[in-house]
Amino acid sequence: MSEEFVVEGLSPLQPVKEISLGQNIYQSLLSYKGKHPALINGTTGEHMTYAELLTRTCSLAEAMRTCGYGTDTTVLVSSKNHLQFFVPVIASLYIGARVTTMNPAYTKSELVHVVKISEPNIVFCSEDIVEKYAKVKEKVDFIERIVAIDSSVSTSEAVSLDDFIGRNIRKNVSRILTTPVDTREHVAFILYSSGTTGLPKGVMLTHRNINAMFLILQDPRLHKKDVRALCVLPFFHGYGLLTTLTAINKQALTVFLNEFNPRVYLQSLQDYKITRLYLAPSLLVFLAKSPLVLEYDLSSVNEAFCGAAPLKKSMEEEFKRRCNLESIRQAYGLTESTLAVTISGTETVKPKPGSSGKVAPYNRVAIRDLETGKFLGPNKEGEICIKGDMVMKGYCGNPEATKNTFTEDGWLLTGDVGYYDEDGDFFITDRLKELIKYKGFQVAPAELEAILLTHPEITDSGVIGVPHEIAGEVPFAFVVKTEKSNLSEKDVQEFVKERLSPQKWIRGGVRFVKTIPKNPTGKVLRRELRKIMKQYQSKL
Ligand code: AMP
Repeated sequence: MSEEFVVEGLSPLQPVKEISLGQNIYQSLLSYKGKHPALINGTTGEHMTYAELLTRTCSLAEAMRTCGYGTDTTVLVSSKNHLQFFVPVIASLYIGARVTTMNPAYTKSELVHVVKISEPNIVFCSEDIVEKYAKVKEKVDFIERIVAIDSSVSTSEAVSLDDFIGRNIRKNVSRILTTPVDTREHVAFILYSSGTTGLPKGVMLTHRNINAMFLILQDPRLHKKDVRALCVLPFFHGYGLLTTLTAINKQALTVFLNEFNPRVYLQSLQDYKITRLYLAPSLLVFLAKSPLVLEYDLSSVNEAFCGAAPLKKSMEEEFKRRCNLESIRQAYGLTESTLAVTISGTETVKPKPGSSGKVAPYNRVAIRDLETGKFLGPNKEGEICIKGDMVMKGYCGNPEATKNTFTEDGWLLTGDVGYYDEDGDFFITDRLKELIKYKGFQVAPAELEAILLTHPEITDSGVIGVPHEIAGEVPFAFVVKTEKSNLSEKDVQEFVKERLSPQKWIRGGVRFVKTIPKNPTGKVLRRELRKIMKQYQSKL
């Protein structure tokens, strides 16, 4: 492939560190050991200092080693945002174990699907979902034990975190051994994404991927110093997980909430004099529109990042006016590229409205013609392709999906459509892939279709995303029912509600049709469904 139109990222200030991610974080925590809080729970006011985080992660790493866990272990962490969440994450990285995080709202069947991909050996979860994991443990043979991160009492199903650490509490943290790994090959995180098609898959991110991401999120040309961030994004999701882990590595303060409560959110912004907001479009809509916002002093906020889904220009304007910000910094990326590959705005350059910014260091981006596969020059739309230090190793245990996601010469095919202008600013304009994004969460249409087909009165289905002002998109289902069926829209919605977690509920509606348009190999033609939807809406 000609490299003529490849857009290079800003030149790196330093090479990516060749040490393990665990060693990287350990060195950072050790150099600091401060009594300042690393994390504050904005709802309860509880906090954990950097010194406590260091002792606790070292102690847990020791306990895990004693139990025989190491580089061939996979550790599952699942809970709402909690003060202890990053303790097992970081301890696992010290010993070279892979970490996989999961949505605590997943139903048992959703969990079974994802654990079969990553095959975790030990689960760290909150007490309220121990029972669910205990049932999953019975169904698979790789989960050995469950540890409740927020419980003080051990039960027959789960040992408490304190009991698990037991006698391994490390007073002397200056000589703990972190396990060296091959940073280019060894997997640090397995996160989930449906990619361009099909069911959720396990995205394998290496130690090098995350070490590179740290350098981007700490690059003084792109980021301010002394950031105080408020994170209401879930820690189990790539966006919340990796931005908070970077903040920890940078010794910054993160105030978090475990669920979105408008008043608590605004109060925390005001009380903790938050400087940076991490937003998804749905949260930005709240800040742009809710009258409550006017009751609080948000003058400390000097930066807002928005990513995870397209952002409406009108919302951007309203938000800026409300929060007295000159611009919003947008970022574009995907789980498969360790988040942000393009970032808008630097310390000196104002973001261009509507743009997701320029290519970040350690990355190269190209726009590929949808028909010829050739790379295109400025102002021409095509599929966004990525190469570089942040591109995933592949999908866990799924070489076929991995092969289909890369071109022969190693470019990651994102399934997103966009272009760049003469200044190298990128604009995301469309999505080729099946994915629906509800409030920044991924919803795979194929997963919904598979569930609908288990209904005895449904013979076929096709699911698409329809625009929604607050959520971004919501799932909408076309359903073919059996001849004598009296199934209603509500029945179908309830059926899905009982089986899948809330982001996947069919909030957009259901339409009963005679057939689902498909190609000769049986693949649902979603473009056709979108057209039908448009015709239907224009008649309303
Ligand atoms: P995830 O892997 O869950 O982070 O989802 C990645 C997908 O979200 C991308 O492939 C895009 O379709 C969408 N996305 C992320 N950032 C943006 C953005 N700035 N503008 C438009 N879509 C975005």
